[in-house]
Amino acid sequence: MSRHSKGDLQQMQSLPLEAKILMTQRRIRDWVDYWHGDVYVSFSGGKDSTVLKHIVDGMYDDIPAVFVNTGLEYPEIQRFVRDIKAGKFPCFNSDVEIIRPEMRFDEIIKKYGYPVASKRVSGYIETAKRHPDSMRAKWIRGEEKTKFVTGGKWSFLIDAPFNVSAKCCEIMKHKPVNKYGKQTGRKAIIGTMACESPNREQSWRENGCNAFEAKVPISQPMAFWTEQDVLHYTKQFNVPYCPVYGEIRVAQHDTIKGQMNIIDYLGCYEAEDVLESTGCDRTGCMFCMFGCHMEKEPNRFQRMKQTHPKQYAYCMNGGEMVDGVWQPSKDGLGLRKVMEYIGIPYE
Ligand code: SF4
Repeated sequence: MSRHSKGDLQQMQSLPLEAKILMTQRRIRDWVDYWHGDVYVSFSGGKDSTVLKHIVDGMYDDIPAVFVNTGLEYPEIQRFVRDIKAGKFPCFNSDVEIIRPEMRFDEIIKKYGYPVASKRVSGYIETAKRHPDSMRAKWIRGEEKTKFVTGGKWSFLIDAPFNVSAKCCEIMKHKPVNKYGKQTGRKAIIGTMACESPNREQSWRENGCNAFEAKVPISQPMAFWTEQDVLHYTKQFNVPYCPVYGEIRVAQHDTIKGQMNIIDYLGCYEAEDVLESTGCDRTGCMFCMFGCHMEKEPNRFQRMKQTHPKQYAYCMNGGEMVDGVWQPSKDGLGLRKVMEYIGIPYE
């Protein structure tokens, strides 16, 4: 049973930014009070969590931030986090703890497989290979219907010469922060938004912004914000942000025209107020293939080839067959072969 409907979300998303800021501050205050101050900001160095940190640091001066250094972040993101920690920006609390996962990306791929398509598809393929008679295997082969995975579309991955897995996020991101939470007793505030994915929308509809009763309690006080809100907040309050995003400017007409759902994209803004960033629009893990098949060209790897050639070479080069399974080698991750098999352009 959901606490909120889709209509609730749309109504909140269409509010002006000023109202959203007040609502977000209210949720943060409730969270801090409930846990007697034992909370932390989950900080990725990306623009959403930078805005979150800016709001929290404007309200309190003693709430730490935690950054998981997975080794997959853009070098600019790593530098930005180090600059905040070094106290370069007076508007941010410099108390940033940098934690690390227990395994490297190449080690995870060797042990479990490559993250491709999406978390859900990778997880289903992983199960289907291990348990060919399971319901998930039937769903992925299209023999049984599910609303989550388009039947049969990804079944070719079952026979791929490489393994596919969804374990990476758990090992790289969730485990280190869960360990930090257990050791310190602190509860997370994160900058995720419902508009980012159907999973995130569903999670918000079930738990609301402050999930006090969840198994792992979590606060998402910006859940009803849109990407436009984040850009407007950053510009309006002159928030320092990672240079990898480029300049935040009024969107060119073609950018607006290219949006699939113009109403969702515009939210409460007029077309002439829409903003865009001229650099990277996503700064998650650089080497991840999740969602890459849906990107227009130039996709993230094609752009990386121009902007970060060293990292691009590490992604595409290398790879070797070990016991009949393609996996990273000492020369690189071997993504070239994986992307060719899936049909994603990378040059
Ligand atoms: S987003 Fe991709 S690369 Fe990053 S932790 Fe998750 S699966 Fe791994």
